[in-house]
Amino acid sequence: MAKSKFILGIASERIAKLFSLAEESSKKNETKLSNKYIKIAKELSRHYKVSIPKKLKIRVCKKCGEFQIPGVNSNVTVASSKSCVIYTCKKCGSQNKIFYKKTTSLQVSRATH
Ligand SMILES: [Zn+2]
Repeated sequence: MAKSKFILGIASERIAKLFSLAEESSKKNETKLSNKYIKIAKELSRHYKVSIPKKLKIRVCKKCGEFQIPGVNSNVTVASSKSCVIYTCKKCGSQNKIFYKKTTSLQVSRATH
């Protein structure tokens, strides 16, 4: 049976709320609680088949599943030669690479005008 858009909307809303709760609790150094929020959010997305938005997904370590705050428990490096941003987890040392498109100066000037 297909789930209605209303239920899927509620699920994605709750996932976003759980991520914001995880961010708040990890700022207070309550890592166990923030990891629990992340785990619940992942279970919700799996159950309702709702994808976690990319901007939230990059905040979680792929290996240990810990919520990452840049500068606190993760390092962020920009590798311009590879055109990617590398998030390195301080707990397990795994690297998560986020690739981006390079824009030329012509494209940047068009976007500003
Ligand atoms: Zn990790």
